[in-house]
Amino acid sequence: MLLQRFALKPKPRKVLKALQINAFKTFLVVRLLEKCSKFILKARDYDCIDISKHGNIAMKFVVSFFVLWLLFGTLEWLFPLRKEQKHFRQGWLTDVAHFFCNHILINVGTYLIMVFLYVLFKGLISHPLQLAVRSQPAILQFAEAFFIAQLAFYALHRLAHAIPWLWRFHAIHHSSAELDWLASARLHPVEAIAVNIAVGIPLFLMGFTRETFGIYLVFSAILPILNHSNTRFQFAMLNRIIATPDFHHWHHSNDREARDKNFSGFPIIDLMFGTYYVPQGKFPNTYGVDEGVPTRYWQQLLYPFRANH
Ligand SMILES: [Zn+2]
Ligand SMILES: [Zn+2]
Repeated sequence: MLLQRFALKPKPRKVLKALQINAFKTFLVVRLLEKCSKFILKARDYDCIDISKHGNIAMKFVVSFFVLWLLFGTLEWLFPLRKEQKHFRQGWLTDVAHFFCNHILINVGTYLIMVFLYVLFKGLISHPLQLAVRSQPAILQFAEAFFIAQLAFYALHRLAHAIPWLWRFHAIHHSSAELDWLASARLHPVEAIAVNIAVGIPLFLMGFTRETFGIYLVFSAILPILNHSNTRFQFAMLNRIIATPDFHHWHHSNDREARDKNFSGFPIIDLMFGTYYVPQGKFPNTYGVDEGVPTRYWQQLLYPFRANH
């Protein structure tokens, strides 16, 4: 019964082979980046993202994957938005590869660029401003950091929809024809690094504390998982404060009236700029993009760099 419900068609040999190939290729790229970082930088003074802490990351990822699968898989089973959607839906294996491989690429890439920018712009740091920011109550710091980060994210996300060469990267995220919690992992690492830089630089320059960063990072990691999930939760007023599933599902819609809407993780910003779109009691008919984005993980990583767009 359970197998029927999830339309489970396990092909263990195929799954294992795909994971092994992706893991091996990613391992080679990460080793190369780490060697470059040690050779070029020889510095660990910027510790917001510390690649030396990655020793047991594989185990943490495996555990968190299964916890999320259990938690959101259960929610999607009990409260599905699209009942007909299979649990192992189209492209799920590609998204598993994104989930496991991207994190390392994104952290190493962000670390390298952050250290480079830190060395370059160290002189611009205003210590009186940082002191003033850090002397505020923690809740106020979090509210300010959240708003600044979301404003930066909104700006970059809107540009990614408007500028063709940025869209090539962002199209990967929009290529899912079906949404669930795992679809949140489908993100080109270059785009994710750009988001980290755009959001991190203003927060870092203004001197928000590591605790504020920490709370924000936890929040920004969990929210996308919830708002991509295949759940029919609708929250009357909450979808004006944080991006709930109905708000973000409309962003992924390929319906004409919903295109280029709901960019933010903080819908008040969309309301401010006239891009808020959540019709009550409705969900999108279609997801995805018109262009032919490839379905395999490594093809998706290479897609923005191919000339024939
Ligand atoms: Zn988008
Ligand atoms: Zn999304």
